[in-house]
Parts: sequence; structure tokens; C-alpha cells
Amino acid sequence: MHRRITDKLVIATHNPGKLAEMKELLAPYGIAAVSAGELGLTEPEETGNDFRSNAAIKAIAAAQATKLPAFADDSGIVVDALDGAPGIYSARWAGPSKDFNAAMAQIERLLQERGATTPDKRTAHFVSALCVAWPDDHLEEVEARVDGTLIWPPRGNAGFGYDPMFLPDGHTRTFGEMTSIEKHGLPPLGLGLSHRARAFVKLAEICLEPR
Ligand code: IMP
Repeated sequence: MHRRITDKLVIATHNPGKLAEMKELLAPYGIAAVSAGELGLTEPEETGNDFRSNAAIKAIAAAQATKLPAFADDSGIVVDALDGAPGIYSARWAGPSKDFNAAMAQIERLLQERGATTPDKRTAHFVSALCVAWPDDHLEEVEARVDGTLIWPPRGNAGFGYDPMFLPDGHTRTFGEMTSIEKHGLPPLGLGLSHRARAFVKLAEICLEPR
């Protein structure tokens, strides 16, 4: 049986961008969101082998520490020609200075080395795994993806991370050229296009009720 989130939720992230996005998504459901950062919780080590387990590690740690339901996400980009890299290491490829221009250049270098020069050899997808953990160990987990092609040179300054080189299927502009409403927004305002928006819709279906 799925369990509903009722009034208060800890968002297990220290990333202000993700927090703002999640608060926005939760607002229509009357859920008061407080962040792990605001509560001074420490971040657990992400030792999982996949997105789903890393989201669960973060949500469980926050639920145990606060005795409240806690929500966490894990995401990244999976490049087919690179055997799935950078995958769960997407953030780490940018290094301590979070240099995503260098991380995108690294992907491009590896694609060139492997002769991935035509669009059919440059397919990739973003993944978002979401987990809500309750203090009694109940878990709700969903995962979604958005498929696309990697282009070079990167285009657009909107968004973050690998957005400027990711051209979602069926579109002519990269994520870096789209507004945040287009990329992450839910219908009717947005296209519900991104992996996170798609995963959130799945989670809302099983755990949230509009107020
Ligand atoms: P984490 O989920 O905080 O572990 O990090 C995910 C990493 O994947 C981010 O730092 C980005 O590099 C990348 N990523 C995840 N979602 C997106 C997205 O929507 N656009 C661009 N990059 C993303």
C-alpha cells in the first residue's frame, strides 16, 4: 500500500537550487517543506551503486535524524557510448570547483575517442530517482528519465550541469536554451519534460493530494 505525505516533509538536500524547485513543486499540495540544511543535518555518504539506492540513503538518514518523513533525490546523466558514465558520478566529474564546462568537455573528448560523431551514437538520458522515507522505515520510491542526444558545442546559459549539451528528443533547443518552466514546469504551465518533473508526477500520483 502506498502511503500519503500529509503535512510536513524534510527535504534531504543541501543544494539551494534543488530545495527551491522542490518547495515550488510541493506548494500546491499544502505540504510544509523544511530542508536538511535548515535543520543542520549532516549529509550521508552516497555509497549506493545506483540512483535509487543513493536517494534512499539520503532520505532514510534524514527521516531517522528528524523523526519526520523525509524526501531525497538522486540524479545524473547516463551516456550510452560511455557505458553509462558518468551516471551516479555526474556531480563528481565536475570536480570540487563544480566546473561543468570541464565535465562536458571530458564527455566530448571520450565520445570523440570512441568515434561517436553521429547523433545515433551520441544518445544519453537524465535519470531522477526520488525517495520518501518515514521514521518507521516505510519507503516510497519512483524513478523517471528523459532521453536525448548530446550535441557539441554546448548551447545556452540557462539551467545547470550538463544542460547545454543535452538535446531532448523531439525538441530543437537544448535544456540550456529552455526556461526553467519549460524544462521542469508541470503542465499546464510547463512541458513536464525533465527527468525530475516526470519523477515528481509519478510521486504525486502515489503520495500527494492537491489541496
Ligand atoms: P546529485 O543528484 O546531487 O548527486 O547530482 C546530480 C548531478 O547530475 C548534478 O550535479 C548535475 O551534474 C547532473 N544533473 C542532474 N540533473 C540535471 C539536470 O537537470 N540538468 C543538468 N545536469 C543535471
